[in-house]
Amino acid sequence: MDGIEDRLQAVRRRIALAAQAHGRPAASVALLAVSKTQPPAAVRAALAAGQRAFGENYVQEALAKMAALADARAQIEWHLIGPLQSNKTRDVAAAFDWVHSVDRLKIAQRLSDQRPRQLPPLQLCLQVNISGEASKSGLLPAEVAGVAAAVGQLPRVVLRGLMAIPEPVADPDAQRLPHRALRELLVALNAGGLALDTLSMGMSADLEAAVAEGATLVRVGTAIFGSR
Ligand SMILES: *Cc1c(COP(=O)(O)O)cnc(C)c1O
Repeated sequence: MDGIEDRLQAVRRRIALAAQAHGRPAASVALLAVSKTQPPAAVRAALAAGQRAFGENYVQEALAKMAALADARAQIEWHLIGPLQSNKTRDVAAAFDWVHSVDRLKIAQRLSDQRPRQLPPLQLCLQVNISGEASKSGLLPAEVAGVAAAVGQLPRVVLRGLMAIPEPVADPDAQRLPHRALRELLVALNAGGLALDTLSMGMSADLEAAVAEGATLVRVGTAIFGSR
């Protein structure tokens, strides 16, 4: 697992520089290390370098990794960032701390119903199809307010904010547009009475653009763990 500590430090530096350039404290941007397809040893290496929050895409892979890392459970915050089907909600409600990929009310209802009583409420983000691509998962922007209001009523989950995976583009100015749209959507929801504090946006290739537009959590895989 050579290099993980160095790459983690380089990513932290990128976040701090981007935050500084936009008048934000570096601590206002959390780093989620996306460990999908990486072995438990890679998570341990990142843990040893001070990383605490890890993101996984595939439920079965994540559960196996969690079992291998059970001794470190108290130090780790596990986030699901990949698509979630109804038949996996029970496992997810029991095993994760956060789910970023909620794209319909029914999934949030099941997570709330199935969240074990002895655990704190599950932290949720609504995934938004912010670039409006037909093939992408996520709520359309016009659907978000209605779903957010309903999710906000559920007893065993806490709606924290919005998540998006914009279409990849190379131009740094163009990268900012979908991130700006997601922030504006969150601002509008809060003006309508919600109190959302999380903008989950930005990955290895566009984290600077996301931080410039107000990301509070960036999800970074390749830049920390190497290519998959
Ligand atoms: C894989 C993945 C990431 C991390 O992408 P990198 O380009 O490797 O940083 C972030 N978010 C989601 C939803 C992902 O699936």
